[in-house]
Amino acid sequence: MKVLVINCGSSSLKYQLIDSESEEVLAKGLCERIGIDGSAITHQPAGGEKIKTEVDMPNHTSAVQFVIEKLTDKEVGVISSLEEIDAIGHRIVHGGEKFAGSVIITDEVIKAIEECNDLAPLHNPANLIGINSCKEIMPKVPMVGVFDTAFHQTMPKKAYLYGLPLSCYEKYKVRRYGFHGTSHDFVSKRAAEILGKDRKDLKIIVCHLGNGASVSAVKYGESVDTSMGLTPLEGLIMGTRSGDLDPAIITFLAEKEGISAQEVINICNKQSGVLGLSDGLSSDFRDLALAAADGNETAETALETYAYRVGKYIGAYAAAMNGVDVIAFTAGAGENNAEVRALIGQYIGFLGTNIDPEKNKIRGEEVILSDEGAKVVTMIVPTNEELAIARETVRLVEG
Ligand code: AMP
Repeated sequence: MKVLVINCGSSSLKYQLIDSESEEVLAKGLCERIGIDGSAITHQPAGGEKIKTEVDMPNHTSAVQFVIEKLTDKEVGVISSLEEIDAIGHRIVHGGEKFAGSVIITDEVIKAIEECNDLAPLHNPANLIGINSCKEIMPKVPMVGVFDTAFHQTMPKKAYLYGLPLSCYEKYKVRRYGFHGTSHDFVSKRAAEILGKDRKDLKIIVCHLGNGASVSAVKYGESVDTSMGLTPLEGLIMGTRSGDLDPAIITFLAEKEGISAQEVINICNKQSGVLGLSDGLSSDFRDLALAAADGNETAETALETYAYRVGKYIGAYAAAMNGVDVIAFTAGAGENNAEVRALIGQYIGFLGTNIDPEKNKIRGEEVILSDEGAKVVTMIVPTNEELAIARETVRLVEG
C-alpha cells in the first residue's frame, strides 16, 4: 500500500509517500509560506536531490495540488498517477478526550476534531484544512487521523489533573493531555523490540528531545505520565519554549512590561527555552554546544539548566512508576547531541545507568549506551513519526 503522510501547519505542509510493505520513503517534501508571498515547494525523491520550486500557493488546497504534481512528475515523480495513492494519514495535534487512538476520518470525526480546536487553536484548524484539502482533491482515498495526544489518554487521573478547582476540568476540560504521543509510542515499542522483550513487561522512560521536547513514563505498554500539559508549553525547557513556570509570572511580567497576558505567553512560546536562556544566541543545541565548548558561559548555563530539568523529570518518572528498566533518548538532540546526553547523564547515574562515555559519542543510531549488566538500560532509539502514522493508517484502512 502507498500511504501519503501529511503534517499540516498554519502556513506549511510536510509530506512523505511511504510504501507500507517495504516501509521505504518513496519521496518527501515541504510546502512553505502557504498563503504568504514567496511560497515554495521542496521535493525530494528517494535517493535524489532536493528540488525547491517557487510557486504561488494561495491556500492549502493548491499546496496539495502541487504535492500531487511533484509526486506524479515525469522526472522527479515516484508514481504515475493519483490512483496509486491508497490511503492518506494525517497528523493531528489535539484529540482532547475524544480520541484515545487513531481513527478513519469521517464527517463525524471532522466535527469532533473541530470541537477540540480551542485546546490547540494554532494547530488543529491547520490540520483540518489539510484534511479538507485532501478530501477535495482525492475524495475516494481513505484518510486516517493520528493524534499527538492519543497515546497519553491512558494517564490516570492523578497524573492528568491539575491542582485547580475540579470545576475547571469539569466545565472546560482543563487537564494535562501530553503531546508527541506517536513518538513516545513508537520509541517505547522499538526499545522493547531491540532488547528482545515485551513492552508489557517493562517500565520505560522516553526522552523526546527535539526543538519541542517531552518526557514520558510508559509502564507496561501504557503512558502513565508525560511532561507536556494542556498545551505543549509545559514541562521541559525546550528550544524556544519555557516549560514549567510559576503561573504568577504571567501577570507579574505583563504588569512590569505593560503588555497583555497573551503577549507574555508568546514570549514563553517563542523567545524562551534555551534561546532565551542563552540571551538570544540560539535555539539550536548544536550552536550552543559549540559556543559552550568555546567558553561561552551563557550557552553553558543554558545547556546545564536544560539538562538539569530533563534529569529531574527522569527521576520523577522513575518514582511515578516505582522503578525504571529502560531510558530511551530520541528526536534531534536526544539522538544526535552527545554533549546534551552527557550532561543529563550526570543526574541519572544513581539509577544504575552505567553509560559508557565512548558509546555516548554515537549519533543517530539505535544503540545501547549502558555497559552490559547495567540495572537500567539507557539507549538511543531514533524516532520516526511519519512511519508510525503510515503504519496506523494501514492498520485502520485494512481493518
Ligand atoms: P527535531 O525537532 O527533532 O528536529 O530536533 C531539532 C534539534 O535537534 C535541533 O535544535 C538541534 O539542536 C538538534 N540536532 C539535530 N541534529 C543534530 C546533530 N547532528 N547534532 C547535534 N544536535 C542536533
